[in-house]
Amino acid sequence: MPSELTAHAALDLLIAGDLTSVDLTRSVLARIDASEAQINAYISLDPERALLLAADVDRRRQSGEVLGPLAGIPLAIQDVLCVRGGRTTCGSAILSDYVAPYDATAVARVLKADAVLLGKTNMDEFAMGSSTENSHFGPTRNPVDPTRVPGGSSGGSAAAVAAGEATLALGSDTGGSVRQPASYCGVVGLKPTYGRVSRYGLIAYASSLDQVGPLTRDVEDAALLLGVVAGHDPRDATSVDCPVPDYRAKLHDGVEGLKVGLAREFFAEGLDPEIRTAIETAAEQMRLAGAELVDVSLPVAGHPEYCVACYYVIAMAEASANLSRYDGVKFGHRTAAADGLQQMYHRSRSEGFGAEVKRRIMLGTYVLSAGYYDAYYRKAQQARTLIRQDFDNAFSQCDLLLSPVSPTTAFRLGEQVDDPLTMYLNDIYTVSVNLAGIPGISVPVTTAADGLPIGAQLLARPFEEEVLLRGARVLEQSS
Ligand code: GLN
Repeated sequence: MPSELTAHAALDLLIAGDLTSVDLTRSVLARIDASEAQINAYISLDPERALLLAADVDRRRQSGEVLGPLAGIPLAIQDVLCVRGGRTTCGSAILSDYVAPYDATAVARVLKADAVLLGKTNMDEFAMGSSTENSHFGPTRNPVDPTRVPGGSSGGSAAAVAAGEATLALGSDTGGSVRQPASYCGVVGLKPTYGRVSRYGLIAYASSLDQVGPLTRDVEDAALLLGVVAGHDPRDATSVDCPVPDYRAKLHDGVEGLKVGLAREFFAEGLDPEIRTAIETAAEQMRLAGAELVDVSLPVAGHPEYCVACYYVIAMAEASANLSRYDGVKFGHRTAAADGLQQMYHRSRSEGFGAEVKRRIMLGTYVLSAGYYDAYYRKAQQARTLIRQDFDNAFSQCDLLLSPVSPTTAFRLGEQVDDPLTMYLNDIYTVSVNLAGIPGISVPVTTAADGLPIGAQLLARPFEEEVLLRGARVLEQSS
């Protein structure tokens, strides 16, 4: 079925004239029709627009026009990215009627590449969560096992790609939100280096950590989509002006001669034994493919008491500042009944935000307050420097790091919603990567005895996505 094709395989057929974008899009829309009642991967869908875009690409292809690199490929966008003229909710009641006046740069780039936009995918409210259960629009379910969560916050994007409800998807990763859902749903998820992809039009959660990244069916598609969205953007002062290589050019070069590091801290207590075995097997496969395995240490970045605490202090502090803009004045929900300005602010925010977002705004405000700033926020910034140094040190001894993505496979819906600390501990292997700004990818390597997917995480030096993708390709081929 066309809805199950990778983007690069579909492109080959489209270019050869053996498939039309309209047929491909119809096939994906049919899957959406069949699955959405159960999966709930989307918040908004625009099938008419998708079919019009597809027909336009087919017509232009017929006429011999040179088309963009994603021409005719159905693509879903996490509802954290602004799409002009469409509803952009960020999974929140406070933005449930918000219509974006402009396209995010990542969105403008996929459109320019002639992708076919399907709609906006479900997510944890303001990208805060690891299960997509914190969405105002109801939870998304994991297509592999609908009693399980798809991971989060980009759970809708991961589930859509896994279920054939999109060929490609974009998500956002602040502490693991692309990599962890990819691992739970059995797809590929890439978090680029901080600064590699523009954040313009990405609704901010924690601005020093947020990155946009691809969720795809294979590593080649991740290389393809990254190549489209990466690159300097004058509208994002943190986007970096360095050339974007053709990520597919060296994709099949293998790992011969590369050093792959295994950090002992990443294999400590709390890791599901099946996942440990899967990662050890993946390491052995990289060795067989010609890589040299080396033991490294990440004493701060790999230590949950430091890295998870550091991440949540910084992410919540930044979130409390970023979310102060939702006050009912210029956009977003405004309470129907308020007596004066103070009450209007108070009620609009109380009504508009969900419980997890409120918890984080309060904690973030607390760690930034005069009496506690030094004890929490400044300490976390100091720990962040040590985390970065840990990775610098490790990457002086190896080219790639291999680790688990998450300590467990996809958990059951409802299992952790009332236990925020356990929920936060899902992020032990992913958050340090955002704190250090380095790129990371999650690749499915095997399935557990109960059939749930297990992903492996590879990490690389800043802006070495090319090496990362080469390593990921080896993992994919040997799995
Ligand atoms: N689970 C993490 C959090 O809740 C990461 C979320 C993300 O990357 N957006 O902050």
